Amino acid sequence: MSNAGIEISGRIEKMTVFTVVLPVRSRRDHGIGAVAGEIKNVLVKLETADGIAGWGEASPWAAFTGTAEAAAAALDGHLRAVVVGRPAAHVTRIMAHANAILVGNWEAKAALEMALYDVRGRELTVSVSDLLGGRVRDHIPLSVSIANPDFDEDLELADRIVADGVRLFKIKTGVAGHAFDLKRLETLKQRFPEVEIRVDYNQGLTPLEALRYVPDIDSFEPGFIEQPVPAENWEVMKTLRGKIRSPLVADESVFTPAEAFKAAREGIADAFSVKIMKSGGMRRGQEIAAIAAANGMPCYGGDMFETGLAHLAGTHMCAATANISLGCEFYQATYYLETDLLQSPFPATDGRVTVPTGPGLGIAVDEDKVRHFTVEQAN
Ligand code: MG
Repeated sequence: MSNAGIEISGRIEKMTVFTVVLPVRSRRDHGIGAVAGEIKNVLVKLETADGIAGWGEASPWAAFTGTAEAAAAALDGHLRAVVVGRPAAHVTRIMAHANAILVGNWEAKAALEMALYDVRGRELTVSVSDLLGGRVRDHIPLSVSIANPDFDEDLELADRIVADGVRLFKIKTGVAGHAFDLKRLETLKQRFPEVEIRVDYNQGLTPLEALRYVPDIDSFEPGFIEQPVPAENWEVMKTLRGKIRSPLVADESVFTPAEAFKAAREGIADAFSVKIMKSGGMRRGQEIAAIAAANGMPCYGGDMFETGLAHLAGTHMCAATANISLGCEFYQATYYLETDLLQSPFPATDGRVTVPTGPGLGIAVDEDKVRHFTVEQAN
């Protein structure tokens, strides 16, 4: 293939797709559904002819973005053809090609893009945040979610994470009744006056419930209130926004840059939760952040039930994007998974994530661990 006369080395010659099942420490109840026992994610490994390997992860949730089975099939059956034989230097072209041949499947595309940037960073000996424009911050405040139906267990977790330096909580509400939500908010506010508490309904309220309950939550002055109503209820989001003082965050209502543009224009929220599993990768996450910035809105670094691998990609995106300024929730590798898949721990300490400086994503995957938890593999 001609590339303006420049010889591009490092063609990707091998792609391997691993479906992994990972045990988790507790049940998590969210507005749209629960997760218990284990999660199923999909990892992709790209290897170049020069012996460089890069890794990516799809972290789907059936109730939210899609299924692991669909992500594995998208990578193995469709996206393999757009990446094998091409150099990682062509990441933008490869992702355009991926979007042309396959609609949606954002988690699979996020995994592919992540692996390509990991390869490219390792080839150039620069970090992924350097490739995304260069970092504007070296640390990102870490939020941990309070989502265990057993609130006493969550209080034990809260004591531990505050001792670790965490100063942001996000309570998952709209699952077990308004009284339970108010009780947890009141208890946590009294017990941890130093912690900023945020609230995330994950679409858990009907519009009528939201009009009744959200103003009560607002009176506790949470840092923000996220997605009280179903994703498509944009008009209710607008109405609620006019009734409360706390910032309103759109998560499930905004997956893509086009949705972010319309949401900003219609004023459905004060901020967006940007997740690479919704946007289809870091670059499209940055596009959403740019739309938000043009509208004077900040963004929050959201995630799904990810391992440290996808957390790393989210970390580099947040590091290289000025207005993803509301912190991140990359806590699962540290506080939720029984075993993470990285060779050294995901760098969440002292209540913040430290952006790795090494090449690519900055921390390599432990392939023995990946293989240990693999239930299906496609070469
Ligand atoms: Mg959310």
